[in-house]
Amino acid sequence: MRRGKGARAKLREHFLNNIGRVMDSEELRAVAGGITEWARRVRELRSEEGYQIQTHNDRDDLKPGQYILEDPVPQPAFERSLSKETRAWVLDRNGFTCQMCGAVAGELHPYDSTRKTRLHIGHIVDKSQGGTDAPANLRAICSVCNEGASNLTLERPSNLKLLAQVRRAKSDTQLELLQWLIRKFPQHAKEFLDDERP
Ligand SMILES: [Zn+2]
Repeated sequence: MRRGKGARAKLREHFLNNIGRVMDSEELRAVAGGITEWARRVRELRSEEGYQIQTHNDRDDLKPGQYILEDPVPQPAFERSLSKETRAWVLDRNGFTCQMCGAVAGELHPYDSTRKTRLHIGHIVDKSQGGTDAPANLRAICSVCNEGASNLTLERPSNLKLLAQVRRAKSDTQLELLQWLIRKFPQHAKEFLDDERP
């Protein structure tokens, strides 16, 4: 048991010292002292401590046996207790978009272009205000907003202002918006196009 705990601590330290670097299983096994259950220790860092260590199951650009930790801040305990299904449901309902600033998962953050947007699950009505962990009270929040770093941007634009800004935007921005909307509302897009057809 003691040896196992030592391996987990070594792996934790190694991940935290190598934020953003892809590592392979051989390297991690060596860090863990060559023990065979190193992969289980990595899983414990994810499931018990909340470190968002990613694998090819999370990211298309990783090969099997590759691992990366991009965010040194572990997920809060409540988020770890959410089922995969609940997380997926909330992220899907929110279009994989931060509900405070509009940043999209995996894209460069609009207010901090040094970071790729990572989404967390947060409460709509805070627990301190009586909010619950029910899916209806959950929403996607990016790590920048989660850390309170972009509260300058939190006001939702009014419809009128937003439409005026879209109409004034450059064509390539409008086209990017169109593509994003088609991806977000594929069925609606199809129906609109079908209706237009003679
Ligand atoms: Zn955000």
